[in-house]
Amino acid sequence: MVTALPPHPEAPTAAARRPDLLGLSRSRLAELLAPIVDRPFRAGQVYDALNRRGVGDFAAMTELSKELRRRLGERFSIGLPEVAERLVSADETVKVLLRLGDGAVIEAVDIPDRGRHTLCISSQAGCALACSFCVTGYWGAGRNLTAGEIVGQVLAVRRDRDLPEGLNLVFMGMGEPLLNTANLAAALEILTETIALRRITVSTSGIVPGIEEMARWERRPNLAISLHSPDDERRSRIMPINRTYPLADLLACLRRYPLEANRRLTFEYILIRDLNDARADADALARLIAPFRAKVNLIPVNPDPVLGARMVPPSAERIDAFHRRLKERGVLSTVRRRRGDDVSAACGQLRAPHRPPRGFAGRAGVRPPS
Ligand code: SAH
Ligand code: SF4
Repeated sequence: MVTALPPHPEAPTAAARRPDLLGLSRSRLAELLAPIVDRPFRAGQVYDALNRRGVGDFAAMTELSKELRRRLGERFSIGLPEVAERLVSADETVKVLLRLGDGAVIEAVDIPDRGRHTLCISSQAGCALACSFCVTGYWGAGRNLTAGEIVGQVLAVRRDRDLPEGLNLVFMGMGEPLLNTANLAAALEILTETIALRRITVSTSGIVPGIEEMARWERRPNLAISLHSPDDERRSRIMPINRTYPLADLLACLRRYPLEANRRLTFEYILIRDLNDARADADALARLIAPFRAKVNLIPVNPDPVLGARMVPPSAERIDAFHRRLKERGVLSTVRRRRGDDVSAACGQLRAPHRPPRGFAGRAGVRPPS
């Protein structure tokens, strides 16, 4: 039985528990600042300085009077995560380790591609769902990120990497975003002022109540579902969450999902040698997703020493054969190029360092690394 992580307490910021202004909507910030600002539009200036320019210090908001900057600094803080480390891969993918106010370390990845940048960001400081191929899952549960920490993550990486506002955003870093929907929604309200919704993708392991909640949102980002196996037996073996939300329930909930006219669902399918890479698996996958306007993203598993010898990608020929079989069955699919794997920045390889792994105890279908 998998339960949601407990709601986490107000993030204790380094700036001695002064309320953090990151993660507040325009209207909430205006309310909060109303007693301090001389003119109402000042709150909008503070909001833009924080959320558009990524200013991390009230003193640098030079469009405001010195007196107002002083008052803001006395009462509030800006909880921008601190860049603890950055690792640059040969293909220019950059993994950024960010330290949060309470010392938790999370990771975000900047993936440049022909002049456009995609940021792969985290929604939790760890993950309780223990998928057998995922290093974050291996390292265990962590708390939900606040809306401010999700927004701050994007701002901190943008600032560190000197990135423009127009980015693609994928929630494919550490954690399960649909176990943190309230903070995800609050963060999206702010992030979508600078990033178009159609450029944002939320990836889920298949949390049915979370998908149902997203279905009720007025404006939705793209949805990607980590499928990884066409049957319950193997899916439960590599994704324990499948025992709580089996394929029939997940697919039924996706059939009810209100997909915008010009959008597609994405099904992510990790290819693992001798586990789910047979021609019959491609056929079963094609049958399973036939009712959907969807595309499949094939991801050769990123091997990692801590995951052991069982997580091996298929040969290039076998990946190609799987891809071609889907195509023959009329399924739109792409094979994800591996990026940044020399610095463990590829998806699923994000881990919270400086934390002991909780180990493989109690995890079905997973043997300790040999
Ligand atoms: N928890 C969410 C989002 C974070 S994981 C989810 O599971 O969808 C983001 C993606 O990375 C998922 O599709 C996940 O299955 C994939 N991933 C995890 N470990 C991986 C690995 N070792 N190799 C390749 N992809 C991996
Ligand atoms: Fe969690 Fe996603 Fe990793 Fe599974 S793949 S352990 S759900 S982060």
